[in-house]
Formats: sequence, structure tokens, C-alpha cells
Amino acid sequence: MVMTQNYDIIIVGAGLVGATLACVIAQQNTCSSLRIALIEAGADPQHFSGEQFDPRVVALTPASQHLLTKIGVWEKIVTQRACAYSDMEVWDGEGTANIHFSAAEVRQNCLGHIIENSLIVTALREQLIKHPQITLIQPATLVGLSKGERTQIALDNGATLTTDLLIAADGGHSKVRELAEFATREWDYGHTAIITTVQTELPHQATAWQRFMRTGPLAFLPLSTVDGKYFCSIVWSAEHALADELMTLNDADFCARLGFAFEHKLGKILHSATRFAVPLRQRHAKNYIQSQIVLVGDAAHNIHPLAGQGVNLGLLDVATLAQEIERAGERGIPLNDFSILRRYQRQRLTNNLLMMSAMEAFKRLFGSESLTISWLRNTGMHQLNSLTELKKIIVKAAIGLH
Ligand SMILES: Cc1cc2nc3c(=O)[nH]c(=O)nc-3n(C[C@H](O)[C@H](O)[C@H](O)COP(=O)(O)OP(=O)(O)OC[C@H]3O[C@@H](n4cnc5c(N)ncnc54)[C@H](O)[C@@H]3O)c2cc1C
Repeated sequence: MVMTQNYDIIIVGAGLVGATLACVIAQQNTCSSLRIALIEAGADPQHFSGEQFDPRVVALTPASQHLLTKIGVWEKIVTQRACAYSDMEVWDGEGTANIHFSAAEVRQNCLGHIIENSLIVTALREQLIKHPQITLIQPATLVGLSKGERTQIALDNGATLTTDLLIAADGGHSKVRELAEFATREWDYGHTAIITTVQTELPHQATAWQRFMRTGPLAFLPLSTVDGKYFCSIVWSAEHALADELMTLNDADFCARLGFAFEHKLGKILHSATRFAVPLRQRHAKNYIQSQIVLVGDAAHNIHPLAGQGVNLGLLDVATLAQEIERAGERGIPLNDFSILRRYQRQRLTNNLLMMSAMEAFKRLFGSESLTISWLRNTGMHQLNSLTELKKIIVKAAIGLH
């Protein structure tokens, strides 16, 4: 007979968001006696070293860095491999406009760090083991969910678990969101993102580069230099037909096309690793909460990678939800009390919606063929570049300072 296991909190998904959340909750004073289960479908991440880089990287803001420092994993990550960037260069390939953001303008050492996903997730999984109240159940996939006095979930290994609070951190295709019937607003961006690592002829100058084209944005994100060789992670968001064509090119032709699209800002593209194509969808849950169930990270919101904000928004969800759980503990409020979740949703939903709308507007502005918009874009960019105060506000928002 299979026994049902009971936990105070169950988190589904030990990706960047779920694993961070488990660590943050576990180290809070009022949460030390909570029993937390963390369910993860996948295996441990692959290890990349030398000239091999994880194709999936994130641009972490100082606010995200602060959270990872608080749970004791930041040092571990940066001593392995991370690339701080101090500048951002954004320009419009159709006109002549450009904006330059610099950390110095906001008196910071850097705007953020580009880090491989696998490195962060590995450091988090190692940290989880240090918290005896966390049980990592892996590999195990959530396959069933039933609501009741306590929420019950079923795993593909036959186990059933019950909890007062089920947290979905299971990514963009969240099974929890689907089974609990959370409504979403979704639309196709009409873009596929091609991601890969490239070696460039010239150094990246600790700069994150983004060129906007009518067919979509192209980003070059700086990576660590290895034996005097320069590497960048690229995210080339292109209309589906163009992306399909780019995926079929041989390496030499792809490097030539990429160099041309990037206006050879970093000289020739010397080498490209395996390319991956990811269709991009905007997806936002209309509500993040139901009785005893809450969505965080990509399970709640998917955003276009042009902003590099996906994980950063997820980590802000983490900080807010953990704070509400701690507050409930201090006041003796039970975990299944809906007021905890309501306070979380109130803070995060509007904030995430604002960022998603801003990114959509940015994307539409730069994807437009209209002459008026093109004129506005160029004029706006020139003016923005000279409006130091406005730029400072934008940079501070982008790096999570307010
Ligand atoms: C091309 C591209 C570039 C990007 N660049 C950036 C960037 O520069 N900066 C940034 O901040 N963000 C970026 N993002 C977004 C970022 O990758 C996501 O926001 C982030 O990975 C979300 O983290 P998460 O933990 O919520 O979800 P995920 O990383 O998707 O993790 C979900 C976890 O849940 C597990 N899981 C799924 N289903 C189940 C189940 N049924 N049972 C158990 N476990 C399950 C999965 O195995 C996985 O480990 C980019 C995204 C794309 C596509």
C-alpha cells in the first residue's frame, strides 16, 4: 500500500525559481520547523567548462544577486564563472539611433552578471541539502492534483502527497497551472529565439549588446574569456520563417549571417556552438492564486527574452512570497490562510504586468514598419540618450534598484 506523505509546503519545480524559494523559506526564522517538499522532474544539470558554455544563460540584476547572496550561493557561483557587464549598447539597425547605458551613470560597479543557468541551478541544489527540513524528490513528475481540505498531488512514481500550500514553480508549461485550471492570457510573439554561444574576433568590452531589426532583436551577452578567446551568448529573436532558415544554415554561413546582422561590432564571428530554437510566447496567468495554490516564476508569467528579465521577475516573486510566509509565521497565521496569498498577488501581479506591457510596447515600436514610428523611434532614442536623469531612472529600474 502506498502511504500518503504530508508536508507543510510543496514546491513543484527545482529550477532557478523553485530551488531559490525553498532555500529562502528554509532559512527564515519562523519557518525552521516547516516541512518542505521540492519535486523535480529533471536530472541534475549538465556541467559546462572551458570553451563549452551552457546555451541557456541569464542576465541577473543586482537585486537577484542580493537574494542569492542572502541564501549563501552567490559566492559559489561567481568564483566559478560569471561575467559582470558594466554597459549596455542598444541600437536600431534601420535608423541611426542608439542608447548607451552605463553602470557609472548610476554609481554602480556593474549593471548585472551574465551567468549560465546550469551553474546557478547546481549551486542551488547543493545548498538545498544543507537544510534538513527540505526533502528533494527527484526525479519525480507531478501528474495529478486534487483540491480539498488539504491539496493532494500525485507523482509519476506512484506517490501521493498532501499539503497546506502548493507552490507551482514548474515553468512556462506548468502542469500545476493546467490541472488547477488557472486561466491565462497568451499570444504568440511571432518570433522564434535562436540561442547559442559564439566566439568573436574582438573582446566584448563587458557590454551587453542589442540590435533591433524589423524581424526581431539580436542580443550578444558577454561571457568569460577563456585562454584569450572571446565568447558571447546570443539570443536572436526572429520571425518564424527567418529563424527556420537560419537554423538550416551550416556553421560557416550562420556565422557570416550573424556577423552581418550584428554589423560586425565585435569583428568576425569565428565559431558558433550548437543552435537551439525556442518559439516565444507571451503568457500571463490572470490570477496567481487559488485556495492553497500559488504560481511563481515562469509558471505565472513568460516574457520576451529581449528584456532579460524572466528570472529576475521570478526571483522578485520569490522574495515577496517568502516574506509573506515569514510574516504569517510571526503572526501565527496558518499557511492555508488565503490572506497570505492575496498579499503576495497584490504586490506581484501589477508589477509583472507593468514590465510585460513595457517590453511589449518596446518590441512593437522596434518591430514596426511605419515611417512615423521609425521617426519617433530615432528621435526618441536620440533624446533619451541625452536625457541623463530619465536614463538613470530606466537603468535603475532595469537593475532592480526600484
Ligand atoms: C531564449 C531565452 C533567453 C532567456 N534569457 C534570459 C535572461 O537573460 N535573463 C532572465 O532573467 N531570463 C531569461 N530567460 C527566461 C528564463 O530562462 C526563465 O524566466 C527562467 O528559467 C524561469 O525559471 P523557473 O524556475 O520559473 O522555470 P524553469 O527554469 O522552466 O524551471 C522549471 C522546473 O520545473 C521542473 N518541472 C516542470 N514540470 C514539472 C512537473 N510536472 N513535475 C516536477 N517538476 C517539473 C522542470 O524540470 C524545471 O526544472 C530567457 C528565456 C529564453 C527562452
